[in-house]
Amino acid sequence: MPYPLRYFILLLTFTLFSIPVFSQSLREVVAKPGDGIYLLLKRHGLNPTSHIKAFQELNQKNLGAGNSLYAGRTYLLPETSATSGTKAAAAVANASPSVLKVPLFGPKYERVEIVNQQLKGAVFYLVAGHSGPDPGAIGKYGPYQLSEDEYAYDVTIRLARRLMERGATVYMIIQDPDDGIRDENVLKMDRDEVGYFGKPVPYVHKLRLRQRVQDINQLAQKHRGAYQRMLSVHIDSRSKGQNIDVFFYHHENSPAGKALAERIHQVFDTKYNRYQPNREYFGSVTPRSSLYVVKYSNPPTVFVELGNIKNDKDQRRFVIPNNRQALANWITDGIITDYKATK
Ligand SMILES: [Zn+2]
Repeated sequence: MPYPLRYFILLLTFTLFSIPVFSQSLREVVAKPGDGIYLLLKRHGLNPTSHIKAFQELNQKNLGAGNSLYAGRTYLLPETSATSGTKAAAAVANASPSVLKVPLFGPKYERVEIVNQQLKGAVFYLVAGHSGPDPGAIGKYGPYQLSEDEYAYDVTIRLARRLMERGATVYMIIQDPDDGIRDENVLKMDRDEVGYFGKPVPYVHKLRLRQRVQDINQLAQKHRGAYQRMLSVHIDSRSKGQNIDVFFYHHENSPAGKALAERIHQVFDTKYNRYQPNREYFGSVTPRSSLYVVKYSNPPTVFVELGNIKNDKDQRRFVIPNNRQALANWITDGIITDYKATK
C-alpha cells in the first residue's frame, strides 16, 4: 500500500472515532400520504438520484413493498456534506454507544442513555399482546374504554427502553409508529400497530400470532448462541377477585423460560409486599405450552398476564403511568437476576 493512502486510512479511522456521538445527527422527516422516496428527498432539498441508496440503507426497516414509504412514519435523511457520508455516521454511532436515539419511544423518551452494561450481550424479543385490528380485552372506565393492547403496549415499550438502558439488544416485535411511550392516563385506542418488519398486523387470529412468531424466529437466527428471551405481555387475566394476580406462563419443556418466569415472579412478590403490605398477592408461575406464542417461539419464552383491564381495581392501577413504569422496572429486575445467573 502506498504511503499516502495508508496515512489517509489511518487519519479517516481516527476521525471516525473521535467525533462525538450525534454531533452530526441525521435530519428526521415525516412522510406525507402519497410520498415516495424521490418526492420526499426532493422536498427536503436533496438530489434524489445521488441520495436514494443511502436513504434506503438508513430506512430499510421502514420501507414497504417496492421501497414504498408509510405515511406518518418518520424517516432519516442522509448526510449531504461530502466529508461525512452516512456510513461514517453509522460507524460513529456504533463506536460510542453511550446514547441511543430511538424514535419509536416518542420525542420525550427517544434519547436513551446507557446507564450500565448489565445486560450487554442479552437479546430480547418483546411482544405487546393483541394489537392492530385486535384490541384484546376492553374495559369500561367511566366514559372511556380502555383496551388491553394499548396498555400492554405501553408497559412493553417502557420495558424495551429500560432494557436498552442496561445495554441489552431489544426488538419490539409489535410497533406503533406514532404512539411512543405515553404518560396519559387514558390511552387512546388505535389500530395502526405493525409487525417488526413494518407489515400490518393480520386480521385473522391465527395469522396474527404466526406473523409475530415468524418475525421472532427469523431475528433469533442472527443471535444464535446468545442469551435470548421472548416476553409476551397481556392484561386480560382471569383475576381471582380482590387480590392482585400476575400470572406467568412458560413452556413445560423450557427450563430457561421457567427460570426467567420464576425470577420475575420473585421480584413481584417482594415489591408487592414492600409497597402494599396489607394487600395479598397471588401471582403464580405455571406451564402453559398450549399458548401459540409459547409453543412456537424459538427463544425461551415468558407469557405474562399483568392483570385484567376489565377489573376496576386493575384499571385504577394501569391508568397511572408511574405504575406502568414500575411494572416494566420490576420485570427488568427479574431479567437482570436471570441473566446474571446464566453467566
Ligand atoms: Zn390478552
